[in-house]
Amino acid sequence: MIRTPLPVVSCDDCGACCTEQAALPTSLVGTAFRMPGVGPLPVELRAELLAAVERFRRDGWPADGTPCIWYDAAAKRCRHYEYRPTLCRDEVVPGDEACRRWRRLKGVGPRPPRYAMRNGRVVKV
Ligand code: SF4
Ligand code: SF4
Repeated sequence: MIRTPLPVVSCDDCGACCTEQAALPTSLVGTAFRMPGVGPLPVELRAELLAAVERFRRDGWPADGTPCIWYDAAAKRCRHYEYRPTLCRDEVVPGDEACRRWRRLKGVGPRPPRYAMRNGRVVKV
């Protein structure tokens, strides 16, 4: 029987594509805190991003390959998903090829069964 993986319809309990995006939401600073279809950021998020930019200018920007500053690693989700940048919306859509690639890379979701020979028999490992 061929098993087809269930489609990915939600980012809940994943965040795979957020784990290497460095300081991504600070790009919102350059767009005056406004994105088409999203509207202006709440005041506290503006303040948080401005503070982050100031901190990075002072201490250095996060290295490539580090988690996005909005990624909550414990909850495995974006802390401000409804305000995520356009890049996050356009480049990786739940269930598309980029999403599946990130999930494979980070080991999210069910893995295909693996088999091995043991004592002359094929067994699931
Ligand atoms: S890898 Fe896919 S499911 Fe996971 S957070 Fe990114 S878009 Fe959402
Ligand atoms: S802004 Fe949110 S969705 Fe985008 S990379 Fe950061 S944590 Fe992920």
